[in-house]
Amino acid sequence: MDYFADNGYSNTVSTMQHPAGEHYEGVTYVAYQGPLEDPYVAAYDHAADQWTGPFKAGESILGKTPGAGIDNHGKPALVVDAQGYIHLVFGGHGGLPSHGTNTLGNMHKGRQIHVVSSRPEDISSWEVLDNISPFGTYNQFVKMDNGDIYLFYRHGAHRSNWVYQRSTDNGRTFAPPVSVLETRRHAGKPDHDDSWYAWFTKGAGGLILGTYNYHYCRLSDHNSERRNGYYMVMDTADHAWHNAAGEPLVVPVTKAHADEMTRVVDTGEQWSLRGTTRLDPAGNPHVTFKIGAPRPLKKGSPKRIAYFRWTGQKWAGGIPGTPMPEDADSDMLIASPMEVGLLLGGNEVAWWHSADGGEHFTKGEILIRRENTRFAITSMIRNAHPDARVIAAGNDRAAKSLYRKMYLLGDRGPIKRPRTDARQIGDQSVAE
Ligand code: ZN
Repeated sequence: MDYFADNGYSNTVSTMQHPAGEHYEGVTYVAYQGPLEDPYVAAYDHAADQWTGPFKAGESILGKTPGAGIDNHGKPALVVDAQGYIHLVFGGHGGLPSHGTNTLGNMHKGRQIHVVSSRPEDISSWEVLDNISPFGTYNQFVKMDNGDIYLFYRHGAHRSNWVYQRSTDNGRTFAPPVSVLETRRHAGKPDHDDSWYAWFTKGAGGLILGTYNYHYCRLSDHNSERRNGYYMVMDTADHAWHNAAGEPLVVPVTKAHADEMTRVVDTGEQWSLRGTTRLDPAGNPHVTFKIGAPRPLKKGSPKRIAYFRWTGQKWAGGIPGTPMPEDADSDMLIASPMEVGLLLGGNEVAWWHSADGGEHFTKGEILIRRENTRFAITSMIRNAHPDARVIAAGNDRAAKSLYRKMYLLGDRGPIKRPRTDARQIGDQSVAE
């Protein structure tokens, strides 16, 4: 089959909780949300062309209440430490009062949980490590060249700071959370809080890149209004943050400070969604967002991909002059300051290439396309092998099932697996 598992569950992968996979010593390890919203892990040995798993790697407290609806926030992020142990963080959506006092935000549900493989390079057995905040949401790992692991997340529900915790001992202990984006009551406006959606990744050398957008978090008539796009970077040598121009920032960054120092795009009345960020070989950041019509969104008011690059002096770009898939998740690879490839999910997973700094894109290779199927993708797998760049989940709309086929996609399309091994669910189905 061209899928490696069929027990992906509901909104099983996203670019947000990331990386969802890592290529380490010839093996690509992948993680996703499986049945009952628990995290599952599979591994592909490239030289042997052999799959193992999926194994259930932990137990989320989400997804266990019949009739409660599917939360979908607790998707796993995965990292392999310098000794080859595989770590997952999953299950968080703000935590519960029974987990203690959240001094950096509010609570909602779930519990952020950390598990590690019992043995290096072996996904068959797992143990819980109780060493991170239970309040985290949108778990993201950043591993540095020296082996340090940074865990970034939102420290609770909507009204919570974005933080990181740093481990210098392969994830066995983590320092307390450090706030980098501040959530607080909007200055002069008692009706809403300033809140954020953020995404962090490793840059060149010791840099950690961050891109984010602003959530207008209403106290009443709450909706998902998000606007603008921002970028900032931390040097792990001194843990100081700067904007793209290299000017120092005061952290945690407030809304006013972000607008003054880190804003890439002011979307005005348009709403935005966060994308990803990567550096080009010259060290300039590139970022994407999705920008669309104000809400409440009517059917047919889509969000379009917007792409920006730092020229060395300013941000250039916007919505490209080429019709491109709408409402698509994406990540990118950057060959040179003017050459970018965007990998877009949606009705297919395909590359879109630009050689003119993002003014125009042309569709390139299609990694996968199936009738009636919509694909969610992860962000790029860490240290990805060219044959295994992202994980994708296919929602076959005709099947009307909550289970998703899971694909590992690279430059040669999906990595195949014998049918008997790829089918965990088989003909069982759970109706949507
Ligand atoms: Zn909110």
